[in-house]
Amino acid sequence: MKVAISGAGIAGTTLAYWLLRAGHEPLLIEQAPAPRTGGYIMDFWGVGYTVAERMGVLPAVRTAGYQVGEVRFVDDDGRKVGGFDVDALRDMTEGRLTSVSRSALAREIYRTVEGQVETLFGDQITAIEEHDAGVRIALQSGAQRDVDIVVGADGLHSQVRKLTFGPEDDFEKDLGYRFAVFETAGYVPRDEDVYVIHAATSRQIARFALRDGRTLFLLVFKKELMKGAEPGSPAEVHALLRSIFADVGWESASILATMNTADDLYFDRVSQIRMPSWRRGRFVLVGDAGMAVSFLAGEGAGLAITEAYVLAGELARAGGDYQSAFTAYENRLRPFIEGKQHTAENFAATFVPQTQFGIWLRNQATKLMALPGAANLMLGQSLRDDFMLPDFP
Ligand SMILES: Cc1cc2nc3c(=O)[nH]c(=O)nc-3n(C[C@H](O)[C@H](O)[C@H](O)COP(=O)(O)OP(=O)(O)OC[C@H]3O[C@@H](n4cnc5c(N)ncnc54)[C@H](O)[C@@H]3O)c2cc1C
Repeated sequence: MKVAISGAGIAGTTLAYWLLRAGHEPLLIEQAPAPRTGGYIMDFWGVGYTVAERMGVLPAVRTAGYQVGEVRFVDDDGRKVGGFDVDALRDMTEGRLTSVSRSALAREIYRTVEGQVETLFGDQITAIEEHDAGVRIALQSGAQRDVDIVVGADGLHSQVRKLTFGPEDDFEKDLGYRFAVFETAGYVPRDEDVYVIHAATSRQIARFALRDGRTLFLLVFKKELMKGAEPGSPAEVHALLRSIFADVGWESASILATMNTADDLYFDRVSQIRMPSWRRGRFVLVGDAGMAVSFLAGEGAGLAITEAYVLAGELARAGGDYQSAFTAYENRLRPFIEGKQHTAENFAATFVPQTQFGIWLRNQATKLMALPGAANLMLGQSLRDDFMLPDFP
């Protein structure tokens, strides 16, 4: 089958890899002019880790990744007030855990199909027309293509979902936070291999030292702190972040100053995508486009890889019968994904405490993780993947 995949991110390229192996003809259509760079550091483990292993990309992903040693909560003066040793998580995952930037993970997966799969960078689907024998897609570049099925792997704000299922508002569940991610060079202090977090009421700043003297920053706040509408332009985003984080103490002044030097600042809602169905006719969604769990699940990338693997596997198993493949794909994954969404939604309630007492309580709770068995009790549920990864022909 000819399969048009909108989005050459994590889900899209994984899908292309497995479709190619099954003898299909994927076509990747990516809005960005080249594989996207920049982005946050993600924890990578679980079923997605196993799929990456089956694809042979794990050694490269681990080399590109970081082995975080400690998560450290600090007060206004930078003194440690909570946190935990990441070895506890490594033990719980039997060492099958790494922290890797989204772009490095996407790059390593893309390398597995580069030169073998037709990829249209700097283009996107603008119209889709389904007919008895297939689908005709119109591209922004003016070209038209005829394919058998179309997969939306174009992330949280999916274009394929908008064109085929309806407006984003119908499916987006806002978890109540806004976040910004950016990277700059030359920031000090660095605290190598330590994920440093400072919380103030309803706001949180984190930094992590990357290679080549770069540092990654993640700013998160409760949406109630926004007085007006959602910011639009980069200038509005900067102004909003400056007003919200100006008085949070610690290194906030120097972090807001270094923010001005970031070439790529990513700002968005912390949201999930919940849909009654991920398939319609010859269209199907994969990854954040159809079932985003939000970064509060800490596993969106691993799940996107898993979903792509299962979709390709079911298509291989069903021969040309894409409809039964789509049904099997959805039936197999839905309970697992809904469980992950539910856990992340519960976590949202306590992710950034709204009171000083809440911050204190969270700090004490993280210290308890050093006690034998406590890490498993506190994080075991969210680290476990209750999903049996299928083998496909
Ligand atoms: C701050 C933050 C921290 C996170 N931390 C973690 C973590 O610790 N662990 C984890 O596993 N996950 C984490 N995630 C989530 C993870 O990044 C996503 O769940 C994952 O990237 C989803 O993959 P995807 O391929 O569905 O979407 P994406 O990776 O977003 O890829 C979508 C692709 O589609 C392209 N695209 C968009 N629109 C169009 C269009 N109209 N036409 C064509 N192409 C288009 C984009 O350019 C992109 O290349 C985090 C996310 C954030 C924001």
